[in-house]
Amino acid sequence: MTEKLLTDVFDENYAEIKKNIEKAALDSGKNPNDIILLAATKTVDVDRINYAIGKGIDYIGENKVQEFLSKRQDYSPCHKHFIGHLQTNKVKDIVPFVELIHSVDSYHLAKEISKESKKLSKVTDILLEVNIGEEESKSGFKKDELLDNLMEISKLEGVFVKGLMAIPPMCHQKDGNIKYFKEMYKLFIDIRGKNIDNSGMEILSMGMSDDYEAAIREGATMVRIGTALFGKRNYNKD
Ligand SMILES: *Cc1c(COP(=O)(O)O)cnc(C)c1O
Repeated sequence: MTEKLLTDVFDENYAEIKKNIEKAALDSGKNPNDIILLAATKTVDVDRINYAIGKGIDYIGENKVQEFLSKRQDYSPCHKHFIGHLQTNKVKDIVPFVELIHSVDSYHLAKEISKESKKLSKVTDILLEVNIGEEESKSGFKKDELLDNLMEISKLEGVFVKGLMAIPPMCHQKDGNIKYFKEMYKLFIDIRGKNIDNSGMEILSMGMSDDYEAAIREGATMVRIGTALFGKRNYNKD
């Protein structure tokens, strides 16, 4: 019975989110079809994820290597992204199976992705994560070191920098993150203007359950939504 309930909840949440995305896009002069909704599927079991895929979710993102590996063979066809912190020694487990890694936070990590991708004769798309709130506890490049790192990373074979990603500081006020979204958008546009070889600024991944509409209004092209789609996570299973 809970199964039924969960799917109903998903249907309602998904309809609401689609509507909100459309409105935020139109309000700010963007085409709603240019905004990608990625479902953040940590702790959500594969049956529920596949239900969501059946309903139209095309992109999913996992943030833990072990969890991704245990689920990956069971997902229905979809675009699979990795969105969590990635250790270099886990890169080889992820690279064969994902389309985009959102969370590249060091040259060292990009180099490892490059190495593993070359072994497979593939090019892995990556985003550079920016620690936009300059928080000690978070990974990501600092704003002022981003460009130099991008220049070096874009020289690596086997990786292609597709854009930027950020997780702004936890914020309890509505719209409190707008200033960080604005800063991210500025970085994104400034870098795009530089036309750096072997990189393209197409994806700006920012905005989660509490702030995705603001993120879209400030220029996000991809939002990563978990709780607002699937309900509260059950961390006991972690
Ligand atoms: C879990 C997660 C999200 C989604 O968070 P919600 O607040 O549940 O929408 C987005 N991005 C990353 C990197 C995550 O790990």
